[in-house]
Amino acid sequence: MKKIVILGSGESGTGAAILAKRVGYDVFVSDKSPIKQQYKDVLEQQGIAYEEGTHSMDRILEAGEVIKSPGIPEKTEVMKAIRAKGIPVIGEIEFGYRYAGDAKIIAITGSNGKTTTTTLTYHLLKTAGLNVFMGGNVGDSFAGLVLETLDQPAMEPRMYVLELSSFQLDDIDTFRPNIAMLLNITPDHLDRYEYRMENYVQSKFRIVRNQQLSDLFITNADDESIQHFMENNPGIIHPVMQQVSSDDLQNGYVMVDEYAFDLSSTRLKGPHNAFNASCAIRAALEVGVSAEDIIEGLLSFSPPPHRLEQIGQINGVNWINDSKATNVDSVFFALQAVNTPIVWIVGGTDKGNDYTPLLNLVRERVKAIVCLGVDNEKLKTVFGPFGVPMAEAKSAVEAVELANKMALSGDTVLLSPACASFDLFKNYEDRGDQFRAAVIELRQITNNE
Ligand code: ADP
Repeated sequence: MKKIVILGSGESGTGAAILAKRVGYDVFVSDKSPIKQQYKDVLEQQGIAYEEGTHSMDRILEAGEVIKSPGIPEKTEVMKAIRAKGIPVIGEIEFGYRYAGDAKIIAITGSNGKTTTTTLTYHLLKTAGLNVFMGGNVGDSFAGLVLETLDQPAMEPRMYVLELSSFQLDDIDTFRPNIAMLLNITPDHLDRYEYRMENYVQSKFRIVRNQQLSDLFITNADDESIQHFMENNPGIIHPVMQQVSSDDLQNGYVMVDEYAFDLSSTRLKGPHNAFNASCAIRAALEVGVSAEDIIEGLLSFSPPPHRLEQIGQINGVNWINDSKATNVDSVFFALQAVNTPIVWIVGGTDKGNDYTPLLNLVRERVKAIVCLGVDNEKLKTVFGPFGVPMAEAKSAVEAVELANKMALSGDTVLLSPACASFDLFKNYEDRGDQFRAAVIELRQITNNE
């Protein structure tokens, strides 16, 4: 029996392990960190051998093939040893693809907007009655999805809508999406790419590397990094290409082919969401969804939480949770999407941020700043000279109290941190959940007064 080793046992590793076992491999899972109980339970149930807290090198180096979690960098000892021995390495996306049969695949990558666009594309296809599944970097692993449908005869052709990170794209080989979307590229995760932007851009463009003439590539005509890369790498795009630009977005309408889609009654707010919608609509039209069904889907779509999520109004002040905005670019779009004076809650673990792109918007729109982080020195240095009131908070509750004091009727309080959350919170969801809970508590207290 062919031996396969799976490095890392999160959502993708566990999904790959079960699929590998199901298709007949001798599977061993190895994770340097503790494995979450929910995944251990699944591995045990399936009778899959695993270890945690260590990598047994002799056992790992016996593998005929390795499936590696996207979180494991090449520079780790275990990866160096595997590479030195010449063992083939793939990611879980490539592995799932081997067993996906003739399903149609829509793959979505970019620095920002992946989850919103993936969930919207899925929603448009699902509400139109297609046999569609969603996963990858959001929700279920691709291997897990493929496994679920392996034995089921499909009544309708299957489709997968997959969110892919650049790390996941680094470990594909033959993976070929019928529709690929590259939304935008701004500096992120550069530590994994030798601090070279061109390496990161190249990694994102792997999404088109196996596409063929009949496939579709949807991308961003206004994104400098994308356009620059395509100019310097002619021939990289083999499929049909559709470029979305700001010219396609007019007065709340998204223009796609001969259709104009009105977004004003939907929950997709701001120009960045109009762009995301435009990409999702193009994909939906391409797989045969009618314009009428798309309109219905747009109206019934709820964006995922923590992305410009409207929490509600308290005494005329609008409260928005954009905790997922963990880099400067997403904050840029958030500040642009809010048309009132803003009390801005910002801060956390700085990933080497350059705040320059925000300076004009902050000057124009921000009336007060609450820094929510352990170390706020950089924010104070950059934004202190603007002369707007600044305060510091060490918890979501404190941030909400301070923002409430600074905001007047007609203002918006926007949590859009530009930073990771790990200094004070478990993750961005925890930060957003605590913020939302504190706002709801404030609303109750205010209503009772
Ligand atoms: P990702 O999955 O790529 O992280 P999300 O859909 O979760 O993207 O959104 C992350 C953050 O980026 C949110 O703050 C959101 O408001 C913002 N955002 C969403 N779409 C875009 C876009 N097209 N361009 C820039 N920022 C965006």
